[in-house]
Amino acid sequence: MTVPYWLDGAPPLAPRLTEDISADVVVIGAGLCGASAALALGRAGVSTVWVDSAAVAHGASGRNAGFLLQGTAERYVRAVAIHGRDRARRVHALSRENHRAMAAEIERLGLECGYMRRGSLQLAGSVEEEGDLLESATLLREDGFPVEQRDADALGPALTGAGFRLGVHLPDDGELQPAAFVQGIARAAMGLGVQLFEHTPVTTLHADAPGDVRAETPRGTIRAQIALVCTNAAAGHLLGGLAGTIDPVRGQMLATAPAPPLFACPIYADHGYDYWRQDEHGRIALGGWRNLDPEGEVGVEEALHPLIQARMTEFLHRFAALRDVPITHRWSGTMGFSRDGLPMVGAVPGSPGALVAAGFTGHGFGFAWVCGRAIAEMVLDGRSEVAELFPARRFRG
Ligand SMILES: Cc1cc2nc3c(=O)[nH]c(=O)nc-3n(C[C@H](O)[C@H](O)[C@H](O)COP(=O)(O)OP(=O)(O)OC[C@H]3O[C@@H](n4cnc5c(N)ncnc54)[C@H](O)[C@@H]3O)c2cc1C
Repeated sequence: MTVPYWLDGAPPLAPRLTEDISADVVVIGAGLCGASAALALGRAGVSTVWVDSAAVAHGASGRNAGFLLQGTAERYVRAVAIHGRDRARRVHALSRENHRAMAAEIERLGLECGYMRRGSLQLAGSVEEEGDLLESATLLREDGFPVEQRDADALGPALTGAGFRLGVHLPDDGELQPAAFVQGIARAAMGLGVQLFEHTPVTTLHADAPGDVRAETPRGTIRAQIALVCTNAAAGHLLGGLAGTIDPVRGQMLATAPAPPLFACPIYADHGYDYWRQDEHGRIALGGWRNLDPEGEVGVEEALHPLIQARMTEFLHRFAALRDVPITHRWSGTMGFSRDGLPMVGAVPGSPGALVAAGFTGHGFGFAWVCGRAIAEMVLDGRSEVAELFPARRFRG
């Protein structure tokens, strides 16, 4: 596996499961989504076993860019075209609530995770994209979401020198060290009595009878009343009812040594395919360029893509101030893409003993917190508005 900058030197948090065990709830998957569910259950005093096949945040949640963006991976004008105005607005508002709730947790738990709220900048690299950005900005404004247009002067010489002429700034967006956030939540959940086991893959999940769920792992069986499946790209492996509904898609990233200040907030370009930001230590985390090989960048293997990595390096070197800054880390991660770009949350066809929250389609840090919390709420209260907005569903064709 490639090692992301965010996980370099991260200590293990929990042992493997080596015996049979029982709890009221088993949470499967220790990324952002599972962490949110586990914390909510821990706070409610529900007996909970939580497992991950690797370690906390070793999936996409510790391999991403750490952008806390509003909205789906599509620009707002596209989101409106796909989902309709009202649904697009509700989905957008929910992602803002996701950010608010994560920021509140950082404050409440005193998490040190490099959280900053400097907004995000969407850049246009072509006339066609400029039109898209401006239309999106108009629709966002009409729907009550703050947005500011930035012309070439406001972008500054570094970005205009790299070929960008127009940008749209979303002042409420944020960023953080993603693995540090999820690990901090895991520690808090363990402090509330949640039993976490790392390096414990669930090989088979028997969830066809609510109240009698069994999760088989290599060295022990977990018995529970209900399973919460938070395995994102791998959700269809454990739940036959979701097979073929979430596609594993790979993303490439790199990080540099500390560099002189150049980028004032997270930046998104080429319709969101390319993204980069400079963290609180001055390191640049840059990723994307997946559209160079969409057929090749699929599957769950965390492999480097030489052509994409080379193109990312080339782009970085368009900025004169970065040409001599060493690249210290290169890595990849797997996202779970649903066919309509929206998450799947709640009851799973054919598995009444399980609830799922998955399919975050490249924007999990905009949705997975509220979706993980939603399935915990379903356990505690029997319903969740988020699950009503994003029901688990199959797609035609
Ligand atoms: C390169 C890259 C850049 C990204 N950048 C951003 C960004 O800047 N902003 C943003 O919002 N989103 C970004 N994303 C997407 C975001 O990281 C994900 O949407 C989000 O982390 C999903 O969280 P999760 O908890 O659902 O899944 P994951 O973090 O993938 O967690 C799932 C966990 O399930 C475990 N698991 C799988 N199968 C089993 C099993 N059988 N038994 C036990 N455990 C299992 C895995 O080991 C994993 O830890 C990016 C993703 C990548 C790969």
